[in-house]
Amino acid sequence: MALTGIQILKMLPKKNCGECGIPTCLAFAMKVAAGQTEIGECPYVSEEVKEQIGEASAPPIRTIKLGSGDSAYTTGGETCLFRHEKRFENPTGIAVLVTTEMNEADVDGRITRFKNLRYERVGVLLKADLIAIKDTKGDSAAFTALTKKVLDGAADAGIILMSDKADNLKAAAGVCGERKPLLYGATAENAEAMAALAKETGCPLVAKGTNLDDTVAISEKLIAAGLKDLMLDSGARTVRAALEDSVVGRRSAIRAKFKPLGFPTITFPCEISADPLMEAMVASVLIAKYAGIVVLSDLQGDILFPLLLERLNIFTDPQRPMVVQEDVYNINGPTEDSPVLITCNFSLTYFIVSGEIEGSKVPSWLLIKDTEGLSVLTAWAAGKFGADMIAAFMKKSGIESKVKHRELIIPGYLASMKGELEEELAGWTITIGPREAGHLPAFLKEWKPA
Ligand code: SF4
Repeated sequence: MALTGIQILKMLPKKNCGECGIPTCLAFAMKVAAGQTEIGECPYVSEEVKEQIGEASAPPIRTIKLGSGDSAYTTGGETCLFRHEKRFENPTGIAVLVTTEMNEADVDGRITRFKNLRYERVGVLLKADLIAIKDTKGDSAAFTALTKKVLDGAADAGIILMSDKADNLKAAAGVCGERKPLLYGATAENAEAMAALAKETGCPLVAKGTNLDDTVAISEKLIAAGLKDLMLDSGARTVRAALEDSVVGRRSAIRAKFKPLGFPTITFPCEISADPLMEAMVASVLIAKYAGIVVLSDLQGDILFPLLLERLNIFTDPQRPMVVQEDVYNINGPTEDSPVLITCNFSLTYFIVSGEIEGSKVPSWLLIKDTEGLSVLTAWAAGKFGADMIAAFMKKSGIESKVKHRELIIPGYLASMKGELEEELAGWTITIGPREAGHLPAFLKEWKPA
């Protein structure tokens, strides 16, 4: 049962020293209880208390960390069934499969696509996260050589090592060094050897069942062997079974606190369908419904990009809009004669507006006012984008020293504010810009200071 903030506070040293990065022990305790920070951040807590609080405040789906540095990847840590209840914590990892049976060109192609298929959207870098390396031939030397090739070829890829043989996994894990891989996987037959390997290497291990009951039995065995960092593969290889297992697993862990299913899952759309579009559809279902990792047979832009966007949408915090920092942004190298525009700090608005200005090639100053992530009209209606606030921001932004003219272009939707804003901003002319960002390039090309 999770501890409350007050229960956690009673176990803290109450120095209020702020060394944990939070000013008071009470605030720290509340954040630990909410799962927003870890008890280990306080340097004064004893190991015994750390263990006690850590266990009690741990999320029902355990957080699993792979790799390190640029290749670091985190999955799990989930606390709810539905995104709107709180938020989903760690985005589903997208992995591509390479095997020891593939020819060199196929492996190279996948590594190259892993590195090249990257997209920036609302300031976030979208890309695949992991490469799953499969020992399909049962050949340790070939498996280790392929692992080295992936490590060298894709420096920021999380690594999944897949083999039925503990010895082969051990040899391949041995060349991974700091890039702690996920070991796949422990079955009913080899669970003891795999558990020993996971303990020796400190790597997370997958419990790989033939169905959900079998997976639970293996998971219980691994927990009894003292392992904490596990992932689960229920063995489902149809869309229906994969979805059912995923939902039953998450429900059991969250609602019933059933420990053997309290781990993130690894799923294999690549083994559910050989048709790339059907595989993508299965992956999209599993991203929406709780997969910790989806393993794809290949990466192609037309399939990867929609999956990345779906993931971005599902794993943003519904209680916190995506924002950009309040500031004056220089676009296309503006001068003292360049136009000055203002809009809100909802990141989608910023990236659309700045993209259109950039595309127009007209040097411009874009002022971004903090509206707590609300869009233009919502912010205005909520009293966060009023004339007085814009005027105060204009003054503190320093824009007056950057331009000779005194003309501010406001979003077309705020036309009714013109008179009020001219009163607040003495000496400035307010020009009403277009309602739609797509009309900005034509507007800016025609613009001359009033
Ligand atoms: Fe309290 Fe520990 Fe944080 Fe200091 S570091 S404020 S003692 S929780």
